[in-house]
Amino acid sequence: MEDFPSLHVSSHPAVLHKLALLRDEGTEPKKFRELVREISWLVGYEALADARVSAVKVQTPLEQTDGARLADRIGLVPILRAGLGMVDAMLELMPTAQVWHLGLFRDERTLRPVEYYNKLPDSATVDLCLILDPMLATGGSATAAIEVLKRWGAARIKLVNLIAAPEGVRAVQDAHPDVPVYTAALDRQLNEKGYIMPGLGDAGDRQFGTGHSD
Ligand code: URA
Repeated sequence: MEDFPSLHVSSHPAVLHKLALLRDEGTEPKKFRELVREISWLVGYEALADARVSAVKVQTPLEQTDGARLADRIGLVPILRAGLGMVDAMLELMPTAQVWHLGLFRDERTLRPVEYYNKLPDSATVDLCLILDPMLATGGSATAAIEVLKRWGAARIKLVNLIAAPEGVRAVQDAHPDVPVYTAALDRQLNEKGYIMPGLGDAGDRQFGTGHSD
């Protein structure tokens, strides 16, 4: 196994169980969306383990005690469209997070990601950005999104995926070694069409029921 110092692959049994259901070609879009949400919650929980907190005092019905409040302002950046299915879970975890949508598509001529939708304000308004995209395939969209966020002034960036290919992890790590990658699985490889193997097919189509039916 290649050495990826910035990669965190979940080994939680609940993630492994749900991942097998997610991959199953028989899983219908409704169930698929539920699983995307549930696995995102679990991987997101791991990705946020080092978010900063500040000390607060809490009055319980019995006495005052020490508590903590989230200090980092969190920005969620779902990559359209497949990343949308990960947002609700992350907002459950971090209800005060801001959500900034980013649309990227791959230019078939240059094979480079092209930004077509960007609602980021002029300068960074958050401390920690989580880029949400279920599939880390070539790494083209992920590295483009990281570049956009760095230009925007984001101080800390993490990438949260459900399934990653070694090619994508390598591309992100080579270009942005400071950006940790959190995923539920590291798969074998990309095929000639850019799909992750064994993967789960097209994560957008499977969530939104837009795949071809024979
Ligand atoms: N995007 C997907 O939805 N699936 C893949 O396997 C690769 C990229």
